[in-house]
Amino acid sequence: MEYNFYKRTPETSSNLGISYDLGSLMHYGPTDFTKSYDSYTITSHDPRYQRTIGNRMGLSFKDSKMINTRYCSNICKRKLACQNGGYTDPNNCRQCRCPDGFGGTYCDQVPVGNVPSCGGLELDAGVDWQSIQSPNLTSNMRCYWRIRSPVGERLALYVQNISFPCRNACHNFVEVKYTHDKTLSGARFCCETDKKPFLSDNNEVLVILRTSAYVSNDYTGEIRRETYKKLGISFDKNYLNTRRQQLSENQFDDGTEAFVNRDFAHQLFESDIVLTSPQARSILNEIKRSLPLRPHSRTKGLKKRISRQIHPDPTLFWQSTRIPYRFSYDDRYWQESVRAGIRHVEQHTCFRFIENGTGRDYLRFDWARGCWSNIGRVGGGQLVSIGTGCDYLGIIAHEIGHAL
Ligand SMILES: [Zn+2]
Repeated sequence: MEYNFYKRTPETSSNLGISYDLGSLMHYGPTDFTKSYDSYTITSHDPRYQRTIGNRMGLSFKDSKMINTRYCSNICKRKLACQNGGYTDPNNCRQCRCPDGFGGTYCDQVPVGNVPSCGGLELDAGVDWQSIQSPNLTSNMRCYWRIRSPVGERLALYVQNISFPCRNACHNFVEVKYTHDKTLSGARFCCETDKKPFLSDNNEVLVILRTSAYVSNDYTGEIRRETYKKLGISFDKNYLNTRRQQLSENQFDDGTEAFVNRDFAHQLFESDIVLTSPQARSILNEIKRSLPLRPHSRTKGLKKRISRQIHPDPTLFWQSTRIPYRFSYDDRYWQESVRAGIRHVEQHTCFRFIENGTGRDYLRFDWARGCWSNIGRVGGGQLVSIGTGCDYLGIIAHEIGHAL
């Protein structure tokens, strides 16, 4: 499985100048390819980002930015003066698409949360510790805070008593963006906080509270005041025991396609990719050339690797952003899951997928064994397998992502 960790070069991978995002939907999960599921194969340099990696909830800001940069940048003739790394939304040319934690037409504001009394809040950090209060928890919450100190000063903060379900990649979390680059996914905390204060890169910190569909009114929680310096976030309370039990039934399932494919991942590239022969040849050549540099130790891998959402070979690009697709498996519920994944990609990019549309090249979704896809457009009806255990929005969008 080591070959999955060989370094890639610009020859077979391009990030379009967009920096590495640990919260990418395309990022490996932290236990992918592991021999024993109690140890990580991937650890983050900054341990606070450990539970950010392996996100399968949906496209990150950078994921969709990469697709939109490649395929959708000529849709809006007039570009808006978007702030904070935002860009003109190809789905609405009068609005900027903003990194999570920014809002308003030009991404210069704090977004309003989706439940009353949460979000849209700006706080000034004082000399004394302050805390953040959240409303009661409900499903699919989004709450936002922006905390600032005077220019030239940094913020100290720490997270305390978060007791969301503990997953390799958090599904319910408090996300803290404390580095310079606020377009990247932040550190996500759902459990096991060390309560040690840490410092922001500059005078601005964004805090996002996000819950999944599984957190319900049964689950009550709050961020409550504690005594700590400048800003403390404490998260506490009884949460849904039923969910916790569900999780422990299969505690090694990190929700990634690599887990679903674990028994036959050796037949695939990077756990879920089917390569055409020319693609396999070029990657093999590249690996051979990079042999002296390979492979990375468990702890040093991430910074050196480049994420590979986008392939640089123009012959693999789709010629149109309207892509026909067909189903090869006739199950209403399964098809509805696939459509949900498709809609997610459509919401975040200018791609439109036309069911039973005409065209030589199209996606053929099938219920085969495991979750896998080709890289880019390979011509004709190319298979996207959404097998048992793959019919989640995040995994489906991930597999479509490989094909784009
Ligand atoms: Zn993949």
